[in-house]
Amino acid sequence: MTPRYLLPFDSRRSLHRFADVLIIGGGLAGLRAANAVSPNQSVVVVTKDLLRESNSNYAQGGIAGVLDPEDCFDSHVQDTLIAGANLCDSEVVEMVVREGPQRIEELIRWGTKFDETDGEIALGREGGHSFERIAHAHGDATGREIMRAVIERTRRAPNIEIFEDTFTVDLLTYEGRCRGAIIIEDESRNPSGRPLMVWAKETILCTGGAGQIFRESTNPAVATGDGTSLAYRAGVELRDMEFVQFHPTVLYIAGSSRSLITEAVRGDGAHLVDVTGHRFMPDYDPRAELAPRDIVSQSIVRQMAATQHSNVYLDLSHLDAERIKKRFPGIFDVCARFGLDMTADRIPVRPGAHYMIGGVTVDRQGRTSLPGLWAAGEVTSSGLHGANRLASNSLLEGLVYGAHAGEAASRSAAEGPHTLVAQRIQSAENRSTSEFDIADVRVSLKSVMGRLVGVQRDAEGLREAANSIHSFATYVMAHQFDSVEGWELQNLITTAQCMVAAAMARPESRGVHFRTDHATPDDENWRRHLTIQVDINGGHPQKGPLKEPVGVFVEAVKP
Ligand SMILES: Cc1cc2nc3c(=O)[nH]c(=O)nc-3n(C[C@H](O)[C@H](O)[C@H](O)COP(=O)(O)OP(=O)(O)OC[C@H]3O[C@@H](n4cnc5c(N)ncnc54)[C@H](O)[C@@H]3O)c2cc1C
Repeated sequence: MTPRYLLPFDSRRSLHRFADVLIIGGGLAGLRAANAVSPNQSVVVVTKDLLRESNSNYAQGGIAGVLDPEDCFDSHVQDTLIAGANLCDSEVVEMVVREGPQRIEELIRWGTKFDETDGEIALGREGGHSFERIAHAHGDATGREIMRAVIERTRRAPNIEIFEDTFTVDLLTYEGRCRGAIIIEDESRNPSGRPLMVWAKETILCTGGAGQIFRESTNPAVATGDGTSLAYRAGVELRDMEFVQFHPTVLYIAGSSRSLITEAVRGDGAHLVDVTGHRFMPDYDPRAELAPRDIVSQSIVRQMAATQHSNVYLDLSHLDAERIKKRFPGIFDVCARFGLDMTADRIPVRPGAHYMIGGVTVDRQGRTSLPGLWAAGEVTSSGLHGANRLASNSLLEGLVYGAHAGEAASRSAAEGPHTLVAQRIQSAENRSTSEFDIADVRVSLKSVMGRLVGVQRDAEGLREAANSIHSFATYVMAHQFDSVEGWELQNLITTAQCMVAAAMARPESRGVHFRTDHATPDDENWRRHLTIQVDINGGHPQKGPLKEPVGVFVEAVKP
């Protein structure tokens, strides 16, 4: 049912572009990768919106790293492994944690200004960390400050060309290798609307997350799971798609955007209380509000059920008001817009989809299962997060893996025998093109996913979700769209199908994957990864649809 390519095209009649390295995505991972490519090689970076629209830009709490002489690598490694619930790759965790300080120092050299106390980086603490090791900027605007510096640096690089407002529809594959991607440029750049085939020696996928699949999410509009879906269509292996991290505290006010209230607020002493004013976290975990995210999210869901109320509240009224205003100016402003004084009023919150833990399988260099394709950042499953991501480890992952993938792709482009020629590829055009209410299906999908594939799952709910999404897929995937909204809907569906199938296939609870019908971890049988991959005929031109989505499951060896 899923087509190999969402667009009909014929390479003989398409526009063409050539680059040594193509990078899809301009968040932290993508731009770090771009800066790792040799200045002698041409780089094209493609982003579907403006450069500043990425999950990276919205990161609030900070970036984790062992920066205090009293802290140590072993402690950061241990905290990451514990959060990951026995599914992390411990060698990857060691590598990322040990490389962290030098990557953060590099950001400072590139112009990032982290908050300081007495001339030293001011380090905060977040849930699951046993030491103060979170560097932050402008209080709660860490991502914006990091991205400001990295974007400025990238724009100055003469070998890097940035295509903003440019949507990547699919990866180009030919004879078992990724050859670049098919993109639709912004109208001002290409008024014809004809697809552009970007042929690259090496391609790096850095498309970020998929939070928009769920009704409640902290993610910006760009996070529609495009990367996992286009990788899936290109036959690339995906891993651990059942693991979606829900942020416990997303602002829940009718009419407001679903703003994240960073856990640094809890790190600074905020309490979670229910509708009766009871501080409930100590009832669930001795670490109370500083327990890892999965535990806090599940506790909130249980407390909402126990009190039959749609949300719980963050209470900061016992903390120093001036310090709170200074430390969290962004959240203070958002609350004020809805008539709430966060230093005195209780803030209504509930969990929302926040971070995609599963994704494209990569090795330590960022190499995927498809030759010529690398990946970095939230779109990947690198082994760092296991079954649950430790707070503030993802910006770090984007930096470390962005650098590795960029360097490795650059090396391969220089050494490899690849020639940059336009191959003859064609995709089919025989699908329905009738009128379609894209927004309606999108809302229905988000609500199914939020209701049945959220913080708590069970076999019956997952079956219902699979059936509903299958019925959407029967007509959405057969449709020929010619707009970003349409392709995004197809991507949302493909990634949602992978998530649901993986969640059904894992009959245990581990990390962020909580099954009420199998409430405990089963290390004996399930300390394993789940992978999903379809056969695309070795990347040879293919006209027919792919096998039924989520066709192949392989259980990889124990981590
Ligand atoms: C509100 C919020 C707060 C967060 N706070 C923190 C924090 O404090 N600390 C922390 O470590 N992490 C935090 N995270 C998570 C972290 O920000 C992300 O995991 C990380 O920044 C992802 O970086 P990335 O480069 O992989 O993806 P992104 O930064 O999301 O970049 C993805 C890029 O891909 C592009 N793209 C996507 N699809 C396409 C397509 N089809 N065609 C072309 N381009 C495409 C987008 O335009 C964008 O440029 C937070 C996330 C959110 C949403």
